[in-house]
Amino acid sequence: MPELPEVEITRRTIEPLLVGREIADVKTTAPSYFFITPPDVLKKRLRGEALVGLERKGKYLVAEGKDGFRLLLHLGMTGQLFSSHARSVRLLSSTARSSLAPEEQGAFEPDRHTHLQFKFCDDGPDVFFRDVRKFGKVMLLAPGEQNERLDRLGDDALDVTGEKLFGASRKRKTAIKALLLDQSVIAGVGNIYADEALFYAGVRPGRRALGMTRRECEGIATEIRRVLKRSIETGGSSISDYIAPDGTDGAYQDERRVYARTGEACYECHSPIRRKLVAQRGTHYCPQCQS
Ligand SMILES: [Zn+2]
Repeated sequence: MPELPEVEITRRTIEPLLVGREIADVKTTAPSYFFITPPDVLKKRLRGEALVGLERKGKYLVAEGKDGFRLLLHLGMTGQLFSSHARSVRLLSSTARSSLAPEEQGAFEPDRHTHLQFKFCDDGPDVFFRDVRKFGKVMLLAPGEQNERLDRLGDDALDVTGEKLFGASRKRKTAIKALLLDQSVIAGVGNIYADEALFYAGVRPGRRALGMTRRECEGIATEIRRVLKRSIETGGSSISDYIAPDGTDGAYQDERRVYARTGEACYECHSPIRRKLVAQRGTHYCPQCQS
């Protein structure tokens, strides 16, 4: 599932392709739960527009129009936002993959999973939103229209402070990991980075938030920011279906210390990494390095 680093990388890569270019046409698949705003409305509203900015709010991408309308894009579990210049084996079907070497693969052709396609007046590259499992979302907000999903988001995880975390932890009887995953407290921390940050901070994910010291909260906040920035630098994680908008795979998964390493030796102390359910999520930790 794309987490904050992947969404931020997507934002940085797609921004120059989506912003400031007049939209000539919008193509979509048939109406479905993917479209919170019906395809017909999207097409009508976006044709002839030039978006003026692309921001990230937690894991949402928010494109803004000239008159202040907002286009929300959420990548869901398997969403991919990329341009027609992107090339990746993962974008092709398994049959196509087996018959073509990567260098033989041409530019991406929209398939039945390509739910949204922007064509531009400048005849430059198209922008595609493809989503195999369709947990992604597209929604248009009128100028000034509030949105509960966006408005309830907490501080961005790239800016989270120990003070914020400590304050939020005072009211919680839940596990510290559950607090980190609560998007109304910190926006953008998902399962992988919660596990990784808690490992580096030396804190067990199942411990009660209320029992955290100020110092531990400082440590966790520092590690969240560091792990996320590092992941952005290395191109994100390619676990599951994420691919960067330029078609390359992220490299952060090679740096994982605990996530999805159940039974493997901890790089620090050689204890086997353990897995258990915390906050209803598969959670990975080192029994020796984290207390
Ligand atoms: Zn260890």
